Amino acid sequence: MIQNSVEFFKNLPAKQCTECGEHIQEQHECYGSKCENCSQISY
Ligand SMILES: [Zn+2]
Repeated sequence: MIQNSVEFFKNLPAKQCTECGEHIQEQHECYGSKCENCSQISY
């Protein structure tokens, strides 16, 4: 059971920023599909 989950995540392709195309490290989902730089919205 658990091993299947691990393999599932291993097979997942690296996330890419939809803005600049940079690879996104596994972080909080709140970042969505953008990297840190692009997720920093100027308030
Ligand atoms: Zn970006």
